[in-house]
Parts: sequence; structure tokens; C-alpha cells
Amino acid sequence: MSEAGFGTRAIHAGQHPDPTTGAIMTPIYQTATYAQESPGVFKEDYDYSRAANPTRKALEQNLASLEGARHGLCFASGVSAEAACLHLLESGDHVLLCDDVYGGTNRLFHRVFAQLGIRTTLVDMTSEQALADAFEERTRLVWLETPTNPTLKIIDIARVSEIAHQRGAIVCVDNTFCSPYLQQPLSLGADLVCHSTTKYIGGHSDVIGGALLTNSDDLHERLKFIQLSVGAVPGILDCFLLLRSTKTLHVRMQRHCDNAMRIARHLEQHDKVEWVRYPGLESHPQHDLAMRQMRHGFGGMVTIGLAGGLDAARQMLERVRIFTIAESLGGVESLIEHPAIMTHASVPPEQREKLGITDGLVRLSVGIEDADDLIADLDQALA
Ligand SMILES: *Cc1c(COP(=O)(O)O)cnc(C)c1O
Repeated sequence: MSEAGFGTRAIHAGQHPDPTTGAIMTPIYQTATYAQESPGVFKEDYDYSRAANPTRKALEQNLASLEGARHGLCFASGVSAEAACLHLLESGDHVLLCDDVYGGTNRLFHRVFAQLGIRTTLVDMTSEQALADAFEERTRLVWLETPTNPTLKIIDIARVSEIAHQRGAIVCVDNTFCSPYLQQPLSLGADLVCHSTTKYIGGHSDVIGGALLTNSDDLHERLKFIQLSVGAVPGILDCFLLLRSTKTLHVRMQRHCDNAMRIARHLEQHDKVEWVRYPGLESHPQHDLAMRQMRHGFGGMVTIGLAGGLDAARQMLERVRIFTIAESLGGVESLIEHPAIMTHASVPPEQREKLGITDGLVRLSVGIEDADDLIADLDQALA
């Protein structure tokens, strides 16, 4: 199966017809425990569902296959997958985190793991010099997202991995914005990939989940121990829903990319829009890097700056009819949000300004509706 194309693996990897009935879909093994033949004698690793469950295992193997990884582990949420990674560290260790990172990630590193003595420094990882200068004696982990959220900066995964490995640190890429269809960080040198499966992988805004993928046997063993010991495992029904979602991941992502590209090009010509940031546009400052690093397209996230600032942004959000005002992203339905008020409200105003999260900045999660309808909706909202 590892030789097959992405779409074939999306539909089949990790899944086999059920051996007892032939059921074509992986059953929802809604069980907490398993009968043992004799004390300590059980089938495969099935002794208790926190440790292993067949529905979860199918999902873990499916996601591993899609990321080109040997191993996969699933979690109850994206942030619990992140927390499992942070549990690899010890008090006194240091982490480098890209500056324009998901708000919940920032909060987890700075307000929860800081209490355990794990120190974090924010770095603009588009600058090799800034990254190299930020390393400390005990920097063990480099954590990044690309494209970043919400300013869609592109970070060079291969270069960051080289620099981090020279300093003895591991690299984890949060690949949520791309999904494995658009970007495969392990093939570029990263050690770990993290996902909020809530977003594109789930794709239907009906599940909260997370995953970690790696090719390292050692990291996998340690993370599996943390998964078992801390216990932030996903519910079985959620695993089933995610398995159903990954079957269409490649098809959905292609449409997200096509729609986002059309919308980005359209808004670039719009007189109410000051600027458009989308990695697929020639005007994106790192368009060349995006072309090298991403495949098949540039994702469904588009960020725009409105000439009229906060008032214009508020009016636009109140007027859209097909787009819905909501946090989150990556679903089949189009969402619109105002980072300064919504997703990034917890980022201090000085840092928001430094990152370019202005009051006129609006973030679109472009869904897979008909592009003409989405464009007409944005036009009437901006009129
Ligand atoms: C949503 C998100 C997370 C957190 O995931 P949850 O499933 O909400 O816990 C982490 N990283 C990115 C990039 C996200 O968009």
C-alpha cells in the first residue's frame, strides 16, 4: 500500500474488510476492554481501549500512510497531541516556537508547560539568523506551522530542520493548515508532524481530534507511552468519522485550493481590499518557497486587509450570507473571522501589531461550495 498514490491510500490504508463479517467499513469497536483467553493472553495488543482499539488503530495507520510515516498516534484534540509532544521534555528544557502560531498552541506552551519549567521563546522562523541566534544550551524542540496563522508566512521546513538537527533539537511541524495532501514535513526533514484533525482531515466541522506522525521508532515508543499514561485518547465514534473523512481528503483539498485561488485573485482586484495574502499569489513574498514546499496547491486559507479598518471588517462579517462568522477552519463550509477580536484576542496588542494582525485583517477559510457563489457573497458583503 505504501507504493500506491495518495487517493488510493486515503481510501484503503490501515483498513481491511472485517474478518468476522466481511463488513467493508471498519466497525466502530465501541468497547473499553477485551476478553482474555487466559490471564495475560489476549489478541495482538488489545487488553484495554486506552492502550489500543481496532478502530483507532485503523485511523492511526491511515494517517501515518498519508504523511509518509511509519507510525501514527491519535488524540482527543489537536492540543492534546501537542501536549503529548511537550511531555517528551523535562523541566529546564527550552523550546523555540514560531511567532505567528495558533493561539491555543501559544497558550499551552506559555501558560501550562511553563509551569512545569519548560521555557519557550517565540521566533520569526522566516529569518535563518533569528532562528540560529535563538538556540540555547537546552533547546530540545523546534515547533512550527507553515503557512502560519493568520498572516500565512511560509517557513522553510528543510532549512529549519537542518539548523535544529545541528543543534541537537528535534523538529515538529503542525501541518494542520496543509493536511498531508499539500505538504509532507517528514520528507523535508522534520521529526514529527502534528495535526488538529478537527480541521481539514476531519473536514466537516463535526469532530475534535489530533494526531502525531513520525518515522522515528524511538519517538513513537516514547509518545505511545505518554498516550497510554496521560490518556488523552479519542472516542471510537470520532475515529470512525475521521476514517470516513480521510477517504475524500484529496478531493476536498483540491477544491479548497481551486476556490481559494479564485477568491484570492478576485479580491486582489477589489478596491475595498488593501491587500490579499495567499501563498499561491505571485505577490506573496515567499511564493517561490511555497511552490517548492507545497504540492498540488496552496490551501484554503486566505487573509485580506480591508482599507476601512475595523468598521469595514465588522460590516463585511455581518453582511456575508454563505460564509459564516465562526472560529475554526478546514470544513467543507466557508467560514470568515476577525483574528484581532476572535481567534487571536488572547495575543497581547503589541505582539499582534508586530505580527501584522491589524484591525482591518480578515481571515477566510474557503470551503468547497461553488466558487461563483462565494465570490458573489464576498462582493455583496464588501459593497
Ligand atoms: C485548531 C488548531 C489546533 C488545535 O487543535 P484542536 O483540535 O482545536 O485542539 C492546533 N494547531 C492549529 C494550526 C489549529 O488550527
